Amino acid sequence: MEILIRGGRVIDPAQGMDRHLDVWIVDGKIAEVGADIRAPLQRAGDDPSTAPRIIEAQGCIVAPGFLDMHVHLREPGFEYKETIATGLAAAAAGGFTAVAAMANTKPVNDTPAVTEFMLRRAAAVRGTRLFPIGAVSVNLHGEELAEIGGMHKAGIVALSDDGMPVMNPRLMRRAMEYGRMLDLPILSHCEDHRLSADGVMHEGLISTALGLPGVPAVAEDVMVYRDIQLAAFTGAHLHVQHVSTAEAVDLVRRAKDKGITVTAEVCPHHFTLTHEAVRGYNTNTKVNPPLRTAEDVEAIKAGLQDGTIEVIASDHAPHHVAEKEQDYTAAPAGMIGLETSLGLSMRLYHTGVLALPQLIAKYTVHPASVLGVPYGTLRVGSSADVTILDPDYAYEVEAITFRSRSKNSPFLGWRLRGAAVVTIVSGEVIFERV
Ligand SMILES: [Zn+2]
Ligand SMILES: [Zn+2]
Repeated sequence: MEILIRGGRVIDPAQGMDRHLDVWIVDGKIAEVGADIRAPLQRAGDDPSTAPRIIEAQGCIVAPGFLDMHVHLREPGFEYKETIATGLAAAAAGGFTAVAAMANTKPVNDTPAVTEFMLRRAAAVRGTRLFPIGAVSVNLHGEELAEIGGMHKAGIVALSDDGMPVMNPRLMRRAMEYGRMLDLPILSHCEDHRLSADGVMHEGLISTALGLPGVPAVAEDVMVYRDIQLAAFTGAHLHVQHVSTAEAVDLVRRAKDKGITVTAEVCPHHFTLTHEAVRGYNTNTKVNPPLRTAEDVEAIKAGLQDGTIEVIASDHAPHHVAEKEQDYTAAPAGMIGLETSLGLSMRLYHTGVLALPQLIAKYTVHPASVLGVPYGTLRVGSSADVTILDPDYAYEVEAITFRSRSKNSPFLGWRLRGAAVVTIVSGEVIFERV
């Protein structure tokens, strides 16, 4: 099956490409990117059975397939929230050709057997690719190292205890030494549990007004600082997950200036909402780390602009409606994000914060390079993973349209502009907006 994508604006930050071009896909690979490609059409004139599928992309952006390097797919163990199949369907609809799935399943992905199970499940879906993330510690308990070598052979692309911080700095040091040896980045959920204690939202004026226990910004900052020091000491690649504070952005910026191998990601909710959103006690605004202040949002936007934060990831965290219907302190933290990530990020483009090539790089070449996977570009010969994005597609976020099994989004009812209209993996169309 061949595909010819015609007339779109091709943006491939990995090649510094931003031009109106056609993209020709043959046998699951990018065969050619060029102006007015006619070869497959001329050949089909002689033999119509060889005609390629033509996708007209006028007015759209044709980009390398988007990668979301931070999602929770809940299988094995919590299939009532999400399965690998429903999670990957949500990913495809969100424009993602690949996702990296965190290890906090049940059982935890701390052994090669669980890694292999996840990969088998994903292969059966034949849709969005899944990259498993291996746990740092057995059961995420932070006491002994997981079977890192075995999981590496089975196919993990990074290490993370996400959901739980690695409180023990000695264990983190050893994980980083393994990571360095095996060339696996350490993705760190930076939170000092003793400082965050039983906080459920950002600690500040609003938590006081609402009478809810707070998580101070410093609970994140001290761990970002610790992990940067450990990365400098061990030479490992530290990737700071879901940066939410101004100080964390600054720490990452200064670490980069010193030449320390550190990268960082931010979630759309952390640059879209502030702790003001918690007024009204909508439990879908409860996330970890929590929604912060307007100053933090400004610092995150500045970090996105100057490249301090090179990745946008959703931290897609499905929860059942009954779990979210508890009161604010009892409800679990997390919101779904795969199907709103792009629409929320496009607000950065529509408001002039980021240029499109900058924004697209944060979903393509940068996350691919953090994880060390050979995707995120439309270079000739690479796998034909493509996201076609209509920057002006306007829609309302509605629970009924979510492919995700869970509906816990604080963005229900929002009007967004910009969405994936076609998602292609290995030359197969896995999603089409009609
Ligand atoms: Zn986390
Ligand atoms: Zn997470």
